[in-house]
Amino acid sequence: MNDWLAVGYLIAATLFIVGLKGLGRPRSAVRGNQLSALGMLVAVVVTVVDDEIVSYGVIAAGLAIGTVVGSLLATRVRMTAMPELVALFNGFGGAASVFVAAASFLAAGDTGSTSDQVAVASVLAALIGSMTFTGSVLAFAKLRESLNGGGFAGLRLIHVLLGLAAIGCAVMMVVDPESTGWIWVLAAIGAALGVSLVLPIGGADMPVVIALLNSMSGLAASAAGFVLDNPLLIIGGALVGASGVILTQIMCVAMNRSLLSVVFGEAPTGGGGDQDEDVYAGKVRSTSAEDVAMMLDASSRVVVVPGYGLAVAQAQHAVRDLTRQLQDRGVEVVFGIHPVAGRMPGHMNVLLAEAEIDYEHLVEMTDVNPTFEQTDVTIVLGANDVVNPAARTDPSSPIAGMPILDVDKSRVVVVIKRSLSPGFAGIPNPLFAAENTLMLFGDGKAAIADISKAVAAT
Ligand code: NDP
Repeated sequence: MNDWLAVGYLIAATLFIVGLKGLGRPRSAVRGNQLSALGMLVAVVVTVVDDEIVSYGVIAAGLAIGTVVGSLLATRVRMTAMPELVALFNGFGGAASVFVAAASFLAAGDTGSTSDQVAVASVLAALIGSMTFTGSVLAFAKLRESLNGGGFAGLRLIHVLLGLAAIGCAVMMVVDPESTGWIWVLAAIGAALGVSLVLPIGGADMPVVIALLNSMSGLAASAAGFVLDNPLLIIGGALVGASGVILTQIMCVAMNRSLLSVVFGEAPTGGGGDQDEDVYAGKVRSTSAEDVAMMLDASSRVVVVPGYGLAVAQAQHAVRDLTRQLQDRGVEVVFGIHPVAGRMPGHMNVLLAEAEIDYEHLVEMTDVNPTFEQTDVTIVLGANDVVNPAARTDPSSPIAGMPILDVDKSRVVVVIKRSLSPGFAGIPNPLFAAENTLMLFGDGKAAIADISKAVAAT
């Protein structure tokens, strides 16, 4: 590698790392994203001007097609469909690693010059990359609800058989690298493994799986970096791999589930804990937008807790208008954000940012929890599991031990949702029957708009 290329790669790798650090905070996230993108530009430019490049025509065509498709997808995607798009991108990354590794493995095999590094790295890139591709396509289909397939008896046995076949192929590729066809057999086995592992996982667990697949696409790219002996690809892949694993772990902890139970187990079904009738019978009190408006007008501090229903109702703009209206009347309004509210990491932050709600008003769970006792009214807007006190009080509950927002400690809780239906965890919520809770039944956006109207009239 010439010196210019090495210096360029060092600059690009530094920009990736600094950019990634910036993504850790909302305030520095945009800048972090720009720095990482600049790093990628540096990487592409120094690679393209390197004189080992074979065909500029092919590179230009690839850049043009990728730019058009990427821009169209990124500008047209709805915010709620973002996890699907990320799933597809992961899949393409995995497939690209398979082809890059295969091209080098085949070329080295033809000339009898396959080193152990190339053989082992090709095994990893082909297996992990193909699993990532089919797993991601399946995750995409499940998130779009165009596929609902579940597990079936004998799936574990299929996993074991595919695993053994993959080990056999891997050994053949390393021991006899000149029989280059094994790499395609291994890629086919990896593709089958990707399908069989993701097929039984429930749609609501898919975001965790996508974080994992994201990490796998990074590992496949890193392995492809070892095949090509390209340090920047190794570093970039390792960064994606490591951050994906950390994100997966954060989400599992916040959902109080282990990764093994997400990948190999069942989605929580609410088998334990109380039944609806025991929790709600005769205890649920409903209210009206006018009554809520009067309470809000008399409050000095209000906390809004958004959940998945905010995304379904697309109520972010309506809630911004209500927030500004109350702030103009001297009411302190903040948003309490639970790490797994919604269906993807940062879901609430993204939606509230889209409505230009100031980050300063978004308070994380650990910071907002001690403040509920001094809160006059908490509005729970389409959230359910993340405010379920059973997580604290009922050890038999499927969500026992999951950290929640302690909204029940505020003076009055107003819950806005369409019915008493459960959330993702499928269990009743004693908050809805608590003495200080009032239910405002209806669509989130319409209910908030009604409250706004009523506040304006007070
Ligand atoms: P929940 O899934 O617990 O509850 C959402 C509630 O929104 C439902 O009870 C539903 O009630 C209500 N809702 C739906 N549509 C509307 C609407 N149009 N207007 C008003 N309300 C509506 O959501 P939470 O955010 O509280 O919790 C997230 C759950 O998802 C947690 O269990 C978490 O573990 C899980 N999860 C989160 C992931 C993440 O990355 N954030 C990833 C995977 C899982 P109703 O039908 O009565 O209106």
